Amino acid sequence: MSSLESPSSAEARLHREIERRRTFAIISHPDAGKTTLTEKLLLFGGAIQLAGQVRARGENRRTRSDWMKIERDRGISVVTSVMTFEYGGNVFNLLDTPGHEDFSEDTYRTLTAVDSAIMVIDAAKGIEDRTRKLFEVCRMRDIPIVTFVNKLDREARDPFETLDEIEKTLALDTAPITWPVGSGKDFIGTYDLKRRQTRLMNEKGDDHRDEIGDDKLDALLEQRYLTELREGIDLAAEGTNPFDLQSFREGHLTPVFWGSALRNFGIKDILDGLAAYAPPPRDQAASTRVVKAEEPKMSAFVFKIQANMDPNHRDRIAFVRLCSGKLNRGMKVKHVRTQKTIGLTAPQFFFAQERQIADEAWAGDVVGIPNHGTLRIGDTLTEGENLAFVGVPSFAPEILRRVRLEDAMKAKKLKQALQELAEEGVVQVFRPIDGSPALVGFVGALQLDVLQGRLDQEYGLEVGFEVSQYNMARWLDGERQDVIDFQNGNRSAMAEDVDGDPVLLATSGYAFNYIKEKWPKIRFTDVKETQ
Ligand code: GDP
Repeated sequence: MSSLESPSSAEARLHREIERRRTFAIISHPDAGKTTLTEKLLLFGGAIQLAGQVRARGENRRTRSDWMKIERDRGISVVTSVMTFEYGGNVFNLLDTPGHEDFSEDTYRTLTAVDSAIMVIDAAKGIEDRTRKLFEVCRMRDIPIVTFVNKLDREARDPFETLDEIEKTLALDTAPITWPVGSGKDFIGTYDLKRRQTRLMNEKGDDHRDEIGDDKLDALLEQRYLTELREGIDLAAEGTNPFDLQSFREGHLTPVFWGSALRNFGIKDILDGLAAYAPPPRDQAASTRVVKAEEPKMSAFVFKIQANMDPNHRDRIAFVRLCSGKLNRGMKVKHVRTQKTIGLTAPQFFFAQERQIADEAWAGDVVGIPNHGTLRIGDTLTEGENLAFVGVPSFAPEILRRVRLEDAMKAKKLKQALQELAEEGVVQVFRPIDGSPALVGFVGALQLDVLQGRLDQEYGLEVGFEVSQYNMARWLDGERQDVIDFQNGNRSAMAEDVDGDPVLLATSGYAFNYIKEKWPKIRFTDVKETQ
């Protein structure tokens, strides 16, 4: 905002900018086509010239940072990032979620920062395991879902069967916006159920807008001996649910689009669908009140930390979701957890191939803020108000280990390294209050390799892992005195996490249940949310 801008025009601009933002993620089972769809969305959004650069970019970056060798070796993407592009007057922020099951913690946190999600389903396979799990997370957070049924250029299930499966297994109403005309080698295009026009797939397989009316479609179907498809289309037009915006926004109904990401077909439909239906930045719950996107004061929270993008500098990027107002480069903000003021001198936007300094950003946007460890996952930034956004989760580890250090002289360095990596969310660290050596916790097995690799490459620490007597960790909650009594009564099994919150370590589920029954006033949780 220039200083000459009047308050009312600043307000109007804020409104306009926020209304045109769509911040979303893609959820799917591995192999359904998330990466391909991401590339094509960026391609149509004009963010990249050549499809294929999403992966290429990832590989370039990986060569720069050695620890990412792990991902390269395993052919998976561990890094969550954000991609911003414009299309049809809207600004889209696509938050990439890591595909690997082991890294679900990152994925869950990313889903706290979006306003909607695209669910990609393989047309032949239908709803798969991981899609269902991620869908449940979206449902918990009332995130509206747009469905894209992909790979229609291959043999697919009957479309009614797919809709039926979505409705039954996810308890989610469906409202097809388009309808596939054929599949596999007979995939002709998609039928717009409202406008009753067919958009044809052309020979080159790009998403051009050659449309034909019903008469021409009938002639085409006849010519190809596919007249029975007509019946399905008519049935879909008459017999499926109409789209209902409110029901979608409340998470009860999903609009369904069909296409082929590989063949560039249906991509524009889904972008237009997001623009038309997906919500602009939502209200966000904070400790003291609910924050509205259109409030003029900037507020934001950290949902992801990515460290050592440049290993020589130990810099960290905190990915921050703006919840309200406008961010100006250079502005001073309050870091609520420490009550300190920090200057946002170099906030960054991420495009497909590059980062750029963000001079201004609006509610709904995601910016990267370089820092040296001040910002942690779940932290809130404001223009002065003491509020904290709630709901960024940490999950109880499924694997607990002790770190075995090859060179005992480096214990202090190890402590520091674990602290830094814990703040980044790479590992959880639990320090027993009786002073015995710290335990490290992991949500997935792959995280052990990542930790080992990073300790070696970035800190010069050679470590191994030893099985610990403990198998479970649970956060606890309750009346203050009850918690103190509990801690005193269970000193040998108590630890603190990186925030200093008390954690119970248990040797088995059996031992845990025993403790739980003995202390009914204490609540034990396997998810900790920032509050
Ligand atoms: P992700 O694991 O969900 O990211 O899936 P990818 O985008 O990597 O796709 C998995 C495989 O399916 C790759 O070999 C893609 O080329 C292929 N694929 C993706 N979309 C389509 C499509 O629309 N049609 C066909 N035939 N193959 C596709």
